[in-house]
Amino acid sequence: MGGTNITCRNPNADRRIGMENNFSAEAKVADGSDQLKAYRKKFLITDAHVIYLNGNSLGRLPLASKELAQKVISEEWGQQLIGGWNKRWYKLSAKLGAKLSLLIGAKAHEVIFADSTSVNLFKLAYAALQCNPLRKKIIIDAFNFPSDHYILQGVVQMLSANHEIIIIPSVDGVTINEKDIENALDNEVALVCLSYVGYQTSFKYNMRSVTQMVHAAGAKIIWDLSHAAGAVPVDLNGCQADYAVGCSYKYLNGGPGSTAYLYVREDLIPDSKTPVWGWFGSAKPFDFDLQYEPSEGIQRFLAGTPPVLSLSVVEPALDMIFEAGIDRIDAKSKGQSEYFITMLRFLHQKFRDLELSSPKNPAQRGSHITIRHPHAAGITQAMINPLKSNVSVITDFRKPNFIRFGLTPLYTSYQELYMAYTRLHEILDKKEYLNYPERIQGVT
Ligand SMILES: *Cc1c(COP(=O)(O)O)cnc(C)c1O
Repeated sequence: MGGTNITCRNPNADRRIGMENNFSAEAKVADGSDQLKAYRKKFLITDAHVIYLNGNSLGRLPLASKELAQKVISEEWGQQLIGGWNKRWYKLSAKLGAKLSLLIGAKAHEVIFADSTSVNLFKLAYAALQCNPLRKKIIIDAFNFPSDHYILQGVVQMLSANHEIIIIPSVDGVTINEKDIENALDNEVALVCLSYVGYQTSFKYNMRSVTQMVHAAGAKIIWDLSHAAGAVPVDLNGCQADYAVGCSYKYLNGGPGSTAYLYVREDLIPDSKTPVWGWFGSAKPFDFDLQYEPSEGIQRFLAGTPPVLSLSVVEPALDMIFEAGIDRIDAKSKGQSEYFITMLRFLHQKFRDLELSSPKNPAQRGSHITIRHPHAAGITQAMINPLKSNVSVITDFRKPNFIRFGLTPLYTSYQELYMAYTRLHEILDKKEYLNYPERIQGVT
């Protein structure tokens, strides 16, 4: 716990549960030798009784971002006023894109920050389909984020060119069989759109082999990196990926609604057209010509003025990830996942209704772990708003019966995972979930 001691309400829980398994001691040893433990102190953490396992939805606030936000507001906006554009703001989208490119295996001029993930997906899906107008099939999987499905449905409707969307189902409810994608690929497929790491079960594709099979069929692929970037290594260029999008408020810790990014492989940029012709994407925004002409580079995918305040605070968070190193982050994520899954297996022996819903193979997983249980909604509420325990474990519920635990190595400790496990054990043991409604309201 980075030096903070918290105890479970039931001091005997440790001994009782730890009889066969020394989970608590293991957590202490693992935290003690954790190479990344210094990073926890670089985040604003005000309550040690709140165990935050939701960094896969909204990352914690880095202290450096808090400081920078103050500076951008009072010094830049407050004092530089319009002059701020020439000092730092105008080039910020591209500068941060160049920085992020190092994390996702791209070249500096292939990545730019803009808009939201959904809007970026819209722009790239349109661009990809326009490049290949004779092919009419689009492939997506049942695990992709609903917004990704909606965006593709909207693009299809807009182009009214009789595209057909093919949804690859999951056979086991946890993974997608790459063979099923391969079987669906033929010479009518224009575009494949997949999440590298799926938001529900944390299933992670083999980006290289899937991209290869898509290319072998003459189609293009858009990878959604939202649940992957900052959590697992990504090598877009190494995999010859065509297009990618992603958000920066999950594992990149950019803050609520922070600006998203997009990637277009350099050789595809000249023929890729954005459907949103705005001045920031034009060749010469400050010439004020009345006829649109796209910028030659990745800037063509900008539309309007970027949200400088929120964009600015993405940078300290990115810097922290580079300093820690994505390989070390990935290694800790795998270590924490194994530790957590071992405890879940132990729980499963006692509570058969609780099942692991993430892939067993670490190479097929991102950095969140999903379980399922018939009372998943009640369990999630008991974790977040306990009636008796003094420990709140922030997780989330996803339909139909999933509970997700986001492991974010920069600030998640093994001790926290142990506490989450003891709460889960208590909730199942005492059937605490029966005290809560079956449906959850609002954002979870
Ligand atoms: C989080 C997430 C999004 C979010 O899209 P926004 O437009 O930023 O709200 C989209 N796709 C995937 C796969 C995600 O995980």
